[in-house]
Amino acid sequence: MNYCENCQVATDLPRCPCCGGKKLREARSEDYCLLIEKKAMDGEMLADVLRGNGIECVTMPSGSGVRTAFAAPLENRKLFVPWRSLEQAKAYLREAADTETEKWRQYLSENADKLHIPPKLEKKVVKKSKGACGEDVAEFFRRFIASADRIKDGGMRRIGDNFELFCYANGDTVIIDGKTLKILSVSFQKR
Ligand SMILES: [Zn+2]
Repeated sequence: MNYCENCQVATDLPRCPCCGGKKLREARSEDYCLLIEKKAMDGEMLADVLRGNGIECVTMPSGSGVRTAFAAPLENRKLFVPWRSLEQAKAYLREAADTETEKWRQYLSENADKLHIPPKLEKKVVKKSKGACGEDVAEFFRRFIASADRIKDGGMRRIGDNFELFCYANGDTVIIDGKTLKILSVSFQKR
């Protein structure tokens, strides 16, 4: 495994995937490697969970660039773990992602009858899916949710307790208002 000291990134590639640099060296057990970047609060919570699982983890602020008092909450955290713990930490993230996906899949399935789509968006979906969703758009979304590889909470969008659920399947993305179950946006991969 190679390591870029500039970016603190471990990679199998001959070039660093972040900076494109070729000055890589063999990764060492104690090298801190970038694991993931998250919103500040989520990042700190995740770092605590990893530490609780015996994985050393350090966080570094990153993101916005604008360092005003108002921009501060938007800041991200980059999480780094020692190379020796990188695979374990990645496995933990995969497991956590699967757990989250199944939680939301169950929630959306249980509330499938509340799923609804604005007529304008429905027209667009029928057209853009090129026949994939047929006549029954509601059934199309039920199948989409059942087959989604990943469903995640995209976080707060407005004041209040609305949140967006991002569902991914076969390169397509559906965003659903997690509270009202309104379909907010659908984007299809180019076919
Ligand atoms: Zn780099």
